[in-house]
Amino acid sequence: MAAVPAETAVPANVPSHIAGNAATLTPLQRELIGRAAELGRTRFAPRAARHDREASFPFDNYRDLRDAGLLAICVPKSYGGLGADFATYVMVAAEIGRWCGSTALSYNMHVCSCMWSGFIADALDMTPAQRADHERIRAIHYARIVDEGKVYSQPFSEGGAAAAGKAPWGTLAARVDGGYVVNGKKIFASLAGAADYYGVLCTLDRPGATQRDSLYLAVPADAKGVTVTGEWDPLGMRGTVSRTLLFDDVFVPDEARLMPEGLYFQAASRYPHMFATLSPTYMGIAQAAYDFTVQYLRGEVPGTPPVKRRMYPTKQVAVAEMRIKLEQTRALFLQNARDARVDPDKDTRMRLLAAHYTIMENANDLCRLAIRTCGGQSMLKSLPLERLYRDSRCGSLMLPWTAELCIDRLGRECLYEGGERDEAIEA
Ligand SMILES: Cc1cc2nc3c(=O)[nH]c(=O)nc-3n(C[C@H](O)[C@H](O)[C@H](O)COP(=O)(O)OP(=O)(O)OC[C@H]3O[C@@H](n4cnc5c(N)ncnc54)[C@H](O)[C@@H]3O)c2cc1C
Repeated sequence: MAAVPAETAVPANVPSHIAGNAATLTPLQRELIGRAAELGRTRFAPRAARHDREASFPFDNYRDLRDAGLLAICVPKSYGGLGADFATYVMVAAEIGRWCGSTALSYNMHVCSCMWSGFIADALDMTPAQRADHERIRAIHYARIVDEGKVYSQPFSEGGAAAAGKAPWGTLAARVDGGYVVNGKKIFASLAGAADYYGVLCTLDRPGATQRDSLYLAVPADAKGVTVTGEWDPLGMRGTVSRTLLFDDVFVPDEARLMPEGLYFQAASRYPHMFATLSPTYMGIAQAAYDFTVQYLRGEVPGTPPVKRRMYPTKQVAVAEMRIKLEQTRALFLQNARDARVDPDKDTRMRLLAAHYTIMENANDLCRLAIRTCGGQSMLKSLPLERLYRDSRCGSLMLPWTAELCIDRLGRECLYEGGERDEAIEA
């Protein structure tokens, strides 16, 4: 009997689905994740090294996202979008992050403008007049995205306590006839110079204004008084091009509102998952670091010699540890995806912070383990692993939920119930 040729006898390694067991997905989820995977593998991954090296914005990837309809992923179906819910979006975002972290992270800023004004706003309290006004205005924003392929970003960081949720925004919007005049500065504004509209978080300029007076305004990138400034030469996530934005007496009409006045504060207080959309990118990076390690140790990384390193027991132990950490991360990621709702109970909020922290920190740890396990040749610039390592480091710096602030809140809120105080300690 003729021997079976070696290449047909050896089963190929099949990387995991980002959602683990894909059989549990809805048809829409499966289809959209598949669309993202196809784009990621064939378009984003081959371009990622160049955008990283040049710290250039991936306009080419955005053209592909637009052509694939993915810019409208969280635009409600009634407005011509794909109508993805929280769980669907985060899995798609993680799949994009698997191939290009910078694209996934900046895409998140765009998608948040649809999600916050979309199903999150729908879950919040508004007067009938506010609701009607919101419907009228968001139709304008969604038509720009669906019909014209416009891109929104989400600059809220200012370098003070506001982005950590501890003070009102320093960027001010003064109410004037027919709209607002915006003045201020935003740092780390992903998509600076690339977005068509900057979704700026600011404070309504009035005496005694507090965080309740937050406003969320879409400022056209080409409006008079908008300037992009500053260098962009960071450690990682270089393709996000997160430069500084200056707003100098920028007039925007009432229709710039992405949420009614006061609604952002309600959203931030009642729908905490709105801030958890930064971590899916890092779930994707964690998966990519693991995928690379398996491929590398099997001698199957394209463009490298087919040298196998998998037979060493220490490497097998390291891969086992990585797989355990990856599955722990995915389990929390998926639970978090399912938990999103308005007014979650305290336990859900604590789980959410724990999940966010875990994804951000484990992504970096998996990249660290990947480099240690694969060895010196694996961290050459010709391979993606060193970029994954640098990109992964950025996760736990993202406000409002940096790793430190997650720990801060978890420690305090797990030990104290609302309003509880300690008695003064006697000297
Ligand atoms: C690649 C990348 C892309 C980004 N894109 C965007 C974007 O599109 N939009 C946007 O708005 N921002 C964006 N950011 C900014 C990010 O969310 C943070 O705001 C930014 O990294 C904060 O930097 P900082 O040094 O000014 O932080 P600081 O405010 O100096 O904080 C430093 C650390 O101190 C801790 N800390 C801060 N405030 C408090 C407090 N009140 N109490 C206790 N601890 C505190 C936190 O752990 C924080 O990590 C991006 C950042 C990166 C790295």
